[in-house]
Amino acid sequence: MENKKIVIIGAGVSGLVAAQTLKNQGYEPIIFDKNTHPGGRVHTIVENNVIMDLGFQVMLDEYPAIKEYLDTSSLDLIKFAPGAVIFKDGRTYKLGDASRDLKFLLPTIFAGIGTLGDKWKVFTLSRKLKQKSLSDIFSTPEITTEQYLKDYGFSDKIIENFFRPFYAGIFLEDKLLTSSRMFEFVFKMFATGNATVPARGIKAIPEQLANDIDINYNKELLEVVGNQLTFKDGSQVQSDYTIVATPASDVVPNLRNQQQDWKQTTVFYFKTDHEGFKQPIIGLLTGNGYANNFHFLHDVFPNHQKVISITVVKDYTQTEEELSSLLAQELKQETGIELGDMIKYFKIKKALPVLNNLNYALPSTETQLTQHVFLAGDHLSNSSLNAAMLNGAAAAQAVIDKAENRVVVG
Ligand SMILES: Cc1cc2nc3c(=O)[nH]c(=O)nc-3n(C[C@H](O)[C@H](O)[C@H](O)COP(=O)(O)OP(=O)(O)OC[C@H]3O[C@@H](n4cnc5c(N)ncnc54)[C@H](O)[C@@H]3O)c2cc1C
Repeated sequence: MENKKIVIIGAGVSGLVAAQTLKNQGYEPIIFDKNTHPGGRVHTIVENNVIMDLGFQVMLDEYPAIKEYLDTSSLDLIKFAPGAVIFKDGRTYKLGDASRDLKFLLPTIFAGIGTLGDKWKVFTLSRKLKQKSLSDIFSTPEITTEQYLKDYGFSDKIIENFFRPFYAGIFLEDKLLTSSRMFEFVFKMFATGNATVPARGIKAIPEQLANDIDINYNKELLEVVGNQLTFKDGSQVQSDYTIVATPASDVVPNLRNQQQDWKQTTVFYFKTDHEGFKQPIIGLLTGNGYANNFHFLHDVFPNHQKVISITVVKDYTQTEEELSSLLAQELKQETGIELGDMIKYFKIKKALPVLNNLNYALPSTETQLTQHVFLAGDHLSNSSLNAAMLNGAAAAQAVIDKAENRVVVG
């Protein structure tokens, strides 16, 4: 192994897994990130002991990548219940996977949410996708998620009362235009595993991956040309190989006309006197308001004070202060939950990349852009922690193969 200089741009989950992969094979990569902390889009702020993730996100514990790249035992993962509490026209329904939690097996479950036929179809879809391989999922022709649900025979009732609000919170768009491949992938992950969050907040994931990695913060790359990197502060660095673990159109001059589009979301944190649901579970709103989903931090984190997290997916024109008053009215009216003072909100303008022609993950042979530049990041495949990690590892492997003059046939 020669002493090659390897630079990674971006200390998001993808760049961090690339760094770990290189380190595990004896290389000493260096990461530059424009931010002041690791994790990129995976971040948590803890203020006055309130654990606030920057956008509600969960790690699905069946993601193949996390079994490979994370030590989940030291993350103290908290599992969300496999279901949701749905608020509709002043009534509350609990919907969930009864095969895993018998409490969900209530005869009233589908009374107001869907039909008996829908119940059967949820079961058959779950059985079908448990058996469908990931490569089959990502090679099936794509249609929109909405079309997929209709084609499968689900009633409008269950689409509007469950699938639309639930998947809007995951896809960060409520038209369900997201590819059916992503729907099948996420459904399969939910059907076979659990949605989890680390007990110290989602940032525990990148913090674990950043351990022992050389990261330079506050270093924004302006452009990479050949083996020369130029940073915003005027400094320049030469590298034998550079892994760009963020959309390359921002830093590779030839790609500037291929800008990445993004979906946004805003998360609000409020005090509340509400006792919560007494278990980690997500609440869904089915009306035409702004709140998409919510959960109580005191249901999720041990000994946490009473705080509710509310996710807004819809676009809005109001200020966040105006929106917070609307959310308080909406929650009271739709759920009976009274909100106290707003603690903080976070608007994430670049939350999920808008993607077409989704793939599961790139083979390492497809990560090389030029002689010196390799690509990583979730945006190359599908917007998930799983794809971010796998693509980071693939780019690192491609660099290693190149550095060691290995010929790999893709
Ligand atoms: C609100 C929200 C909810 C989500 N929910 C889920 C979920 O429930 N489950 C799931 O699996 N995934 C979810 N995701 C997606 C998941 O977070 C991403 O797929 C993953 O974090 C992407 O990692 P990445 O390393 O590819 O990109 P990023 O995290 O975007 O990392 C890119 C890094 O590059 C740095 N950077 C960018 N440009 C430059 C530059 N010019 N110079 C230097 N540094 C630069 C950035 O600062 C950043 O640290 C969610 C994301 C958000 C925001």
